[in-house]
Amino acid sequence: MSNGSFEHPMDDAFSVPDDIEPLVEEIHEFIESDVEPIEQEYSAYLGSPLNYLDEDGRLRPEVEAARAEVRQRSAEEGYYALHLPEEVGGGGLSQREHFYIIEEIFRYGTGHGTGLTKSMLAWTEGPSPMLIHLDDDQREEWLQPLIEGRKSACIGITEPTAGSDITGIKTYAEKDGDEWVINGHKRYITNAPFADTAQILAKTDQGDGIDGMAMFLVDTDNPGFEPGHINQNIMMDGITSDIHLDDCRVSDDQLVGEVGQGLQLALTWINWRRVNRAGMCVGMGRYLLERMLEHANEREAFGSPIGDNQAVQWPIVETATELRAVRAFSTQLLSEFDEMSTLERLDQPSEARRTMSMLKYYPENQLFEWSDRAVQVLGGQGLMRSGGVERVFRVARNLRIPAGATEIQKQTIARTLGLGGSR
Ligand SMILES: Cc1cc2nc3c(=O)[nH]c(=O)nc-3n(C[C@H](O)[C@H](O)[C@H](O)COP(=O)(O)OP(=O)(O)OC[C@H]3O[C@@H](n4cnc5c(N)ncnc54)[C@H](O)[C@@H]3O)c2cc1C
Repeated sequence: MSNGSFEHPMDDAFSVPDDIEPLVEEIHEFIESDVEPIEQEYSAYLGSPLNYLDEDGRLRPEVEAARAEVRQRSAEEGYYALHLPEEVGGGGLSQREHFYIIEEIFRYGTGHGTGLTKSMLAWTEGPSPMLIHLDDDQREEWLQPLIEGRKSACIGITEPTAGSDITGIKTYAEKDGDEWVINGHKRYITNAPFADTAQILAKTDQGDGIDGMAMFLVDTDNPGFEPGHINQNIMMDGITSDIHLDDCRVSDDQLVGEVGQGLQLALTWINWRRVNRAGMCVGMGRYLLERMLEHANEREAFGSPIGDNQAVQWPIVETATELRAVRAFSTQLLSEFDEMSTLERLDQPSEARRTMSMLKYYPENQLFEWSDRAVQVLGGQGLMRSGGVERVFRVARNLRIPAGATEIQKQTIARTLGLGGSR
């Protein structure tokens, strides 16, 4: 396998329940039969950011084409939208079931530095449960092309002066007959340079503050829509940029849900990302554990494998133990979430919000620890761009900010425990 995976004594500890095992096996085979040949074909553009980014820090078109190819192949097989209900053309998996699919994909680490393997599942660029709130005609026009992987999306919530506090956004939409005129500036928007559809959160002239917030669908061909400069970041992903909305006109039927639901719709999208973090972190954790075991057994120093030293054993032992704890925690909380709610729900009960925040911050914090240990165990090799572990370390550091920083998750948990509600 391209993840360099090998049999090790912990394999049995990561068993997959019978109800989802055949699908996980299919996903595994798809990666080998369909994704790996595409990786081979584009290998000259993969591995290092020097290969996959252009001089402006933007993902090269060849790599974007490879990602789109993986996405479309996956959609043809019905894997790309497993997370959506069957009624809208998705796979109808529960969050607990979907965990095992995400875990399997992230056992390959970050997919050769460009997320090629990961492109077989819908992320920021894909169809989110938020779009279940479209009516039938809108679904046909905007959701279906995303489910089929023919088009990709981005979501513009964050702005230069508003991140954690979404209510502070300044993007504004004014009603003009049966159209809306949107003006604003978005920042840190994943897939903005490549998206066909932008989902834009704005305040409107139809209500004050949260009551006037709305989510719009914008065709990125719209003359009022312009991606800005690439936001070169720790992941060097080449797909994150500003967006400028300058008298961007959209029609009434480009509204998701209703005016006044904008904030809840944005949170619906964000919650989708939050619950997916558990599978990502456990999958990447397993990748790191395998790399550590491999290296500790193979690398020799002072006449014996470095794994003979307790100092090298302990970070591996701690990671193996914590991985089991986080995996059990994650599947337990995801099962509980499935019992009490669904992702598209706009009025999430307090317990569901607490569960989603726990599912985001705790696995992410652990992954960061594991990746730091893995770099240390691998020594110089752990810091090399070509190795894979270095990239997981940078991704792990990133995860703790987007979709609600760690502190915001803890704030949500505190509020559901009856603390700090007055602020
Ligand atoms: C790589 C990347 C991709 C992204 N993709 C997208 C995207 O596709 N779409 C999109 O809309 N946004 C996106 N974002 C933006 C992301 O969601 C925000 O960066 C995040 O919500 C934090 O906002 P901020 O950066 O403005 O930090 P700030 O809100 O300025 O916060 C800075 C620090 O203060 C802390 N803080 C703030 N308020 C409190 C409080 N009340 N209590 C305690 N601590 C607090 C925060 O936790 C954080 O540690 C992306 C960001 C990155 C880095």
